[in-house]
Amino acid sequence: TKYIVISGGVVSGIGKGIIASSTGLLLKTTGLKVTAIKIDPYMNIDAGTMRPTEHGEVFVLNDGGEVDLDLGNYERYLDVTLSRDNNITTGKIYREVIERERRGEYLGKTVQIVPHITSAIQDWIERVSKIPVDNSGEEPDICIIELGGTVGDIESAPFVEAMRQFQFRVGYDNFALIHVSLVPDMHGEQKTKPTQTTVHALRGLGLLPDLIACRLLAPRPLENSTKEKISMFCHVSSTQVLGVHDVSSVYHVPLLLQSQGIVDYLRKRLNLSALNIPEEMI
Ligand code: ADP
Repeated sequence: TKYIVISGGVVSGIGKGIIASSTGLLLKTTGLKVTAIKIDPYMNIDAGTMRPTEHGEVFVLNDGGEVDLDLGNYERYLDVTLSRDNNITTGKIYREVIERERRGEYLGKTVQIVPHITSAIQDWIERVSKIPVDNSGEEPDICIIELGGTVGDIESAPFVEAMRQFQFRVGYDNFALIHVSLVPDMHGEQKTKPTQTTVHALRGLGLLPDLIACRLLAPRPLENSTKEKISMFCHVSSTQVLGVHDVSSVYHVPLLLQSQGIVDYLRKRLNLSALNIPEEMI
């Protein structure tokens, strides 16, 4: 399985879920089997006990799991059926580690966030990413992992660290990162500083962005000069900078990403053509 992590910076609610779903959908159209995991860095076990006015409606999965609305996006975009384990929360991870500690499974060791919580996160992701989610009954080729919250938060820190370790666990060819940032439009001027700051924070935590998706909360697309500036200051090529402006329907986002070469980029970066070989060629 190959993993694509979608992280976010600057503010929450900028459209990580839509970018995660759209990326998954584009890869699915190339013939790959795609699954998705949402990480919600809160202590609640699930969204079932959270006030909808605060968190948005609860999405109920086939197995009764009460989860974040993004899981609904994944199911619709990817035409898959997910289970409660596709939604990881801080609460679920801590519960698992604490129960294991009570059973004495850590053999007298001091149980710590690093490595025990971070290993539990990685083990959970590896296990769930291999569960078939469509009626082919086959293991998915790609797992999209959306990391909720913003990079730099105390809440998401164990997950960011788990992802930093995970890139070594699965290897370079099997791990890519899309960082979603905000580009404010100030009276017609597209500002890059928040993106520079969040990418800097991300690199400081040991995660290097393969793609930077720049959300503009306005209908005007990302300008070429802004793209060049982000490329220059964030140490990526300009082909690694994608603009995601406000569109009239979120179902236009996949084409917006495709037109900027995201599929080609990921195909090369993750060596996806190796997965696409038809049966008769093997
Ligand atoms: P996050 O996962 O970062 O919290 P979501 O993906 O849930 O954000 O998106 C937040 C809101 O913004 C949703 O209501 C979604 O429909 C809307 N949205 C996301 N991307 C776009 C876009 N490109 N154009 C217009 N609306 C968008």
